Amino acid sequence: MGRNVAIVLAAGRGKRMGSDVAKQYLHIGDKPVLFYALKTFEDSFMDEIILVTGAGEEEYCRKEIVERYHFNKVKKIVPGGAERYHSVLNGLRAAKECEYVFIHDGARPFITEEILLRNLECVQKYEACVTGMPVKDTIKISSGDGFVEATPERKTLWAVQTPQTFSYKKILDAYEKFLSGEGSKEGVEVTDDAMVAEIYGNLPVKLVEGSYENIKITTPGDLVMAEALLEAAFGTL
Ligand code: C5P
Repeated sequence: MGRNVAIVLAAGRGKRMGSDVAKQYLHIGDKPVLFYALKTFEDSFMDEIILVTGAGEEEYCRKEIVERYHFNKVKKIVPGGAERYHSVLNGLRAAKECEYVFIHDGARPFITEEILLRNLECVQKYEACVTGMPVKDTIKISSGDGFVEATPERKTLWAVQTPQTFSYKKILDAYEKFLSGEGSKEGVEVTDDAMVAEIYGNLPVKLVEGSYENIKITTPGDLVMAEALLEAAFGTL
């Protein structure tokens, strides 16, 4: 069986958190946000983890996170870039030879082994898949001037999470094309990996069920939510 590699992204500045400390290093319970996703990958079937950190934070991460919590599967720590997609490409280039790559936001602490297994099963069949959940709210499309332009049918809408999991060669190729400007689609803002696969790799992307608890820590309210989820899971902080 081919090698499975996780790319865990932790190079964001987290401006929406309004804190001097990057959100991945803030604590929930008594551990940094980044600990939780790394722990799940470490204890899973994954063969290797590549951690993408802010440039200049590699040594801090090695000492304070990787060595402190004995994450032996973290074989490489590489610097990220200005946008999330630059960080992903740096991680992909570091992954070298592997069959499947699981791209995950380090700011999503509540990933589970079950979600990883669903991704593995899916990628083996379809080569490109994205974790998500059906939306609970009704979603409106705004006209841009504060009025509702349209209301897409709710049962067709999914909110996308990570991991987003791909055949390594296909997603690397799509990212290289995207970032070299080859086949670039004017005016399309790329906000996740699946978009790169769809637009630049021409790959059909399959949706995989995640969980409503697989939240991304973005604003201070998310930290409160994360504390509550942790307490519910373990009964203690
Ligand atoms: O900013 P956002 O919440 O969308 O970030 C999602 C994930 O991507 C986070 O884990 C963040 O650390 C990471 N990221 C990154 N490099 C960037 C921007 C975001 O690794 N330039």
